[in-house]
Formats: sequence, C-alpha cells, structure tokens
Amino acid sequence: MRIVPGFDLFFIGLYALLIPLVGLVAWLVTGIPALFALALAMLAAYLLLALRRPLRRRQAVHAPFPGEWREFLLSRSPFYRGLDDSGRQRFERDVRLFLAETRIAGSGGAPVSWPTELLVAAGAATMLHGRPDWEPPLLDGVTVYPGFAFDRNYRPGRGSIAGQAPAGGPLLVAEKSLLEGFAGERDGINVMIHELAHYFDLEARKGGLRIVADSVRPIPWSVAIEKAYERHDFAASPLPDYAARNEAEFFACASELFFEDPIRLGASCPRLFSLLEEFYGQDPSGNVLAGTHQTPGSGAGNAVVRGMLNG
Ligand SMILES: [Zn+2]
Repeated sequence: MRIVPGFDLFFIGLYALLIPLVGLVAWLVTGIPALFALALAMLAAYLLLALRRPLRRRQAVHAPFPGEWREFLLSRSPFYRGLDDSGRQRFERDVRLFLAETRIAGSGGAPVSWPTELLVAAGAATMLHGRPDWEPPLLDGVTVYPGFAFDRNYRPGRGSIAGQAPAGGPLLVAEKSLLEGFAGERDGINVMIHELAHYFDLEARKGGLRIVADSVRPIPWSVAIEKAYERHDFAASPLPDYAARNEAEFFACASELFFEDPIRLGASCPRLFSLLEEFYGQDPSGNVLAGTHQTPGSGAGNAVVRGMLNG
C-alpha cells in the first residue's frame, strides 16, 4: 500500500491544474478577474477535502507501532516473523494504513478487541506484501461474529460458516476461527486469507487484470484461473475438497495454502503456485520457512476449522 495511492495522486494533481486553468480562461474570456479568484477559492476548498485522506494515511504511518502489537504478530504470523527488518517495517506500515481506513466492527456494531483487529489487518498486509500498488478491496469493512461460526441467518454460535465474502461486503468472519487461522502454522487453513482472496479475485475480474501465467502473452485473470481450475487434479490435490466446488473456492483455498505452506503447494502444484506467485507478486516460501516454529502440518486447531470454511 502506498501512503498516497497513485490513483489519488493523479487526480489531485489533475484537478489542482485544471481548476485554476479554467478560472484563468474564464477571466481572459469575460474580463472578470473575480472568476479567477473564485477558481482559486474552489481550488483551496478542493485541496482541503482531497488532501484529508493522504494526510490521514501519513499520520497513521508515522504513529509508533506498539511493541505489544509487534510481539503479538511475532507469536501469530510465520510470514511476518520470517521477514527481514525492511519487510517488517513495510508490513507494519500496511497494517497501520489498513486499520486507519477499514471499518472493523463486531456484529451489531460492537467494538472489537485489538488482537482481532490486528489479525484482520495482518491478513491483508500478508496478501498485499508483493503488490504495493494495490489497496485492500474492503470498502465496506469487516464484521466480526463471536465464536467459531455463524449460520445462514447470521446467528453466531450456530451453523458452520467461519467466514463469508458477500459481493456487496462487508467481509464476515467468526472471531475464534480467525484466531485459529493464525494459530496453526502451515496447516493451510486461514479464514481471513480465504475470504480476502474472494475479494481480490472479484477485483481482478472487475479491473480486467491480465496475467502471463504459462501463456505466451498476458491473458485475463478470469481465463487464467478458469484454466487452472479445469486442469487441476483434485484427486491428488493438497487442497481441501471444498476447493473443487467452483473456481472462486479453488482460488481462495489455494491462496490459503500459498500463504500458509507455500512449499507444499509449490512442490505438489508448481503451475498453480506460479499462477498465484504472479497474482500476488511474491513468493512467500522464504519468509514462511524462516518464520516457522513447528514441523509442517502440525498446526493447532486443524481439526476444528477444517470443513467449516464457507462463503
Ligand atoms: Zn470461500
């Protein structure tokens, strides 16, 4: 994430030039100097509004990163643990930017604890680490339900839905499953990564992302993931059965394994691994291996969350 996204910077610069220019032309054409003064006043008002977001982001980035947060991330995220100093600084900056702009609330608007907020942000910072020009696709924020799951009527403590990614947002996640996702190292299960992947997938389709994958020239993301889904051997796959439901679940489950145990995914599905590597702009193998405490696949909570992922 950039402190000022390139898109914002482009439009701020464009309007900062256009508004006085229009005022100047109006003055020259009509001979009324007040029109130019009016344009300057409009420019000042525009800049006051337009610069609020960059200033807010700048302030967020420069706020100190609490030691307690750092310790918590070190204990929960092999990805973060495996980063070098500059990587960790960028990760922390992304966490700050995410928290400054993303609404995270409990069901019914209840407040959410800082560790929960931090893990939500850590999911986004992990996935964006290789795509500094991307923004988290979560304009409608995140709603956290208590317990391990909720049902189709969004009643917490019932049903088996650990998370959901409705197209209109917000991202929904059950708090205990979120925590479990960051507790089991390299178990390939992380509901936050899974649900966020759905939104990145939607954004890539909407935005017409093109990807080379193993083609001669770039092809639309939607075609690349469709081909990967169709050729995937689910019988010999390290992905859960849920991945076979459709292309979207295939990509979301593959993203979980890509960030949780990239070495396993790379060894068993090299073409799928390369596709995700290009999509996310990174190969997390080095960080995850460097940051791993446990033996592969020995993550806690594996049995609890397996089979509960949904949406
Ligand atoms: Zn899903």
